Amino acid sequence: MADDKEEQQKSSKRTSWKPTRTSFVAETRQEPKHEVHPTSEYEVKLPRKVPISSSRRPLVDILSHDELCSLCHNIPKIELHAHLSGTVKESTLNELGRAKGLDISKMKFTLESLAATDSLEQTWKETVEAFDNIRKLTAYDLHVLRRIINEAIEMYAEDGCVYLELRTGLKHLPDRKTFLSEVISTINLAQGKHGIIVRLLVSVDRGASVEDARETISIAIDAYESQSKGGGQRGGGVLVGVEMGGNPLRGNWDELRPLFQQARDAGMRVSLHFAENKGHEEEHEKILEFRPDRLGHAVFMSKKITDKVLNTKTPVEVCITCHEAYYKVDRKKNVFGILKSHNHPAILCCDNACLLHTLLSKEWEVAIQTFKLTAEDVQHMVLDNVDAIFADSVTKQKLRVQCENRLKSLFTKSEAPRARKSGGGGWQSLLFLSLSAACLGGLYYLRVVKRAI
Ligand SMILES: [Zn+2]
Repeated sequence: MADDKEEQQKSSKRTSWKPTRTSFVAETRQEPKHEVHPTSEYEVKLPRKVPISSSRRPLVDILSHDELCSLCHNIPKIELHAHLSGTVKESTLNELGRAKGLDISKMKFTLESLAATDSLEQTWKETVEAFDNIRKLTAYDLHVLRRIINEAIEMYAEDGCVYLELRTGLKHLPDRKTFLSEVISTINLAQGKHGIIVRLLVSVDRGASVEDARETISIAIDAYESQSKGGGQRGGGVLVGVEMGGNPLRGNWDELRPLFQQARDAGMRVSLHFAENKGHEEEHEKILEFRPDRLGHAVFMSKKITDKVLNTKTPVEVCITCHEAYYKVDRKKNVFGILKSHNHPAILCCDNACLLHTLLSKEWEVAIQTFKLTAEDVQHMVLDNVDAIFADSVTKQKLRVQCENRLKSLFTKSEAPRARKSGGGGWQSLLFLSLSAACLGGLYYLRVVKRAI
């Protein structure tokens, strides 16, 4: 009975959604213009500001654990690698499963079991199983699709994220074009509602057929180009790029490359999952030759490939929890350490936040603790992240200003070290002057003596 009532309430909520739009052009024209204020209203609750004078000291040495958590929540975070299917709340999946009369106890939604195996093949088998379960529960109903997008965006906004790039493959819901149109319009509405800038990448599954990839890219290009019709700036809409994901042990980059080139030629940005497959150096080289705008993961790079990535300065989306869970990479040995030591842009991301039971603030906390990051590091990283987003230059500039303002509210300049420096340098200066005077006096004495002789 209670379930019936709950279902009725859910149904009434669902009917409040706007009807499906099936045309990209029509959808673009109908999109309401939202003024997004991701950070201006954001309340900073950090117990005390972190003095920039401490910028060279690790934050873990300056802040208590609670203060560090608070700081990580308040850092203006930017998520650039978030799969929609892996960002569905477990409670929502349970609810949807119960509504469909499924035995939830037998369905895997999380990747906890992956810790038990060292086999990448087995890991991917279980991952595919988890994603299949999630799709069964979410990719059959447009109301559910809108709900999970809203909840994902809300989750990131509540975590103090100011900019989010979601990525998803195109589902037949009821067809791929309609699905993409729905995702774009839902994001457009949700970003204003939750006060966060959200953009979208269309995912190409490298494990599927080339024909599948071709259709996906073609639909993505159509949608991207329609955004700029009717006066919109190219690249200024919700859809900004394409990405390659899926099982790294499947697919052939040589066959997919021309398709990604088509997307690039249309003006779309490209991010590629990279070096998740150990020992496939030839593929890694070919992917780098393509010069993608960003690389995802970069877990298993040889020395030669690492040097090439460092030379290109291509930003890398780093998912520390994911690398630990999937690839058994110890946090201290995460690629983030190498990238950071070379001042290479490394963007902390979640990959599949709900599957991995993580949040972006948690990823920052792990990085700050593991790599002894300083206030200076954090500030540089935030601004590097802004540079790496795929949104247009106007959005980027707005975001930069918002991030700089938020950073100013988190970190404060202190005169203390300067005072200490001048105090500490006082006796040194006095000694220097005394020695100088003694030397000059000595020289004068020598000249006098010399003249006398
Ligand atoms: Zn990924």
